[in-house]
Amino acid sequence: MENVIILGSGPAGLTAALYTARANLDPLVVAGPDLGGQIATTTDVENFPGFPEGLTGPELTELMQKQAERFGARVELDSIVSVDFKQHPFRLKGNMAEYEAQAVIIATGASPRKLGVPGEKELIGRGVSYCATCDGFFFKNKELMIVGGGDSALQEGLFLTKFASKVQVVHRRDSLRAGPVLQERARKNEKISFIWNSVITEVQGEGAVKAVRLKNVQTGQETVKPADGVFVYVGHIPNTGMFKSQLAMDEEGYLIVDSKLHTSLPGVFAAGEAHDRWFRQAIVSAGYGCMAAMETEKYLASLE
Ligand code: NAP
Repeated sequence: MENVIILGSGPAGLTAALYTARANLDPLVVAGPDLGGQIATTTDVENFPGFPEGLTGPELTELMQKQAERFGARVELDSIVSVDFKQHPFRLKGNMAEYEAQAVIIATGASPRKLGVPGEKELIGRGVSYCATCDGFFFKNKELMIVGGGDSALQEGLFLTKFASKVQVVHRRDSLRAGPVLQERARKNEKISFIWNSVITEVQGEGAVKAVRLKNVQTGQETVKPADGVFVYVGHIPNTGMFKSQLAMDEEGYLIVDSKLHTSLPGVFAAGEAHDRWFRQAIVSAGYGCMAAMETEKYLASLE
């Protein structure tokens, strides 16, 4: 029986682990399918306070984990597949073990949204990717398409210019959502060009990406352009499917929490992108992890 189980090992989960560990709650972190979550797939983290020179996502994850473990947090490399919140203590079933806990902090984050076009699924790992840090190295001197107009698309597009000969950013509008610093860097980079008002309607290739079909959303005109890789950065979907019918969530699956991060069920808290659709910053998620931990401490004290 655990006092508190934290689901997820991104900045929210590991900060919740640090705070609950320092409150002597002996937390168990069930890391989930990807240790470190999304930040661990980010190349350069330049806006996490305390690191003036920046650091990589995996480095930040490792430091956060070490810090939490120093105070007794345990990190289990398991993924929870189903939960039973109808009884207390709560029951959680993982791939490797079953767990019981008095309190749960959900820090399961969000996953990249897919384009949902023909060829995308078939060519994942064969030229279609959602992680430049993981796959960029395989595209030396290759021509790439990046989809999206937000910070992720530009930041990872800039990173990919270290390898690729050409990076074309496909965006469905004619103005970018990304912040001005990244916009300026991208516009100044000679390897980056933009394909405006366009979406990818098909990824083509047998065994490896060879081309994409593009559609201009204003004229309807379709063209096929050669490409060796497609990196998709079109937003995220919260990882909350297993809580459906047990916790309140909005129509897109974001958990509904109060201002102190209580979900609709006492003893279950949420932290990070599983409920936060707006800010989606590592530092914000870390802050939520701290808040959820402090509320968990109060909840557990109230049980005694
Ligand atoms: P985002 O800001 O939601 O941007 C998603 C982009 O994908 C938008 O440009 C959107 O177009 C486009 N898009 C959405 N659905 C699409 C579809 N079906 N087909 C084609 N395009 C589609 O996501 P993000 O870039 O991953 O950023 C998420 C959050 O993390 C943001 O708050 C961002 O500031 C933050 N972030 C910050 C940094 C940094 O500060 N260095 C780096 C990475 C991420 P529209 O613009 O038309 O909606």
